[in-house]
Amino acid sequence: MKRKCMYCAHPISGRSDKKFCGDSCRNSYNNDKNRDRNLLVKKFHQRLQKNHRILNSFLQDETDKKVFKIALVEAGFNLQSVTSYTSDPQGVAYFFVYEIGFRILDEHIMHLTRSKNKGFEVTGLTG
Ligand SMILES: [Zn+2]
Repeated sequence: MKRKCMYCAHPISGRSDKKFCGDSCRNSYNNDKNRDRNLLVKKFHQRLQKNHRILNSFLQDETDKKVFKIALVEAGFNLQSVTSYTSDPQGVAYFFVYEIGFRILDEHIMHLTRSKNKGFEVTGLTG
């Protein structure tokens, strides 16, 4: 079977490990691959930024606040886009979007908290 360039599908000859017909096809192929990867990272980043913006707007200047989960969701908050996860000494799970943490108190209420240490290490959280 005749081998084809991975970028332009042109038949290629020469060394059996050759994947592209030339440098320009190899470069184009790699550029496309990087572009896809960058777009994916950008998408995740935008989602995190949006989540952070929403949490920040609910929390405002406070460090602790209880909010309705539905209000966050309606504002566009995505519960799965978080940057870290931890649990307090009692085993209560906290999810973080950068320095703002949240935990689910019950099916309707969420507790938001702003970490002084930016979410990297969370100690002394209380109800
Ligand atoms: Zn080619």
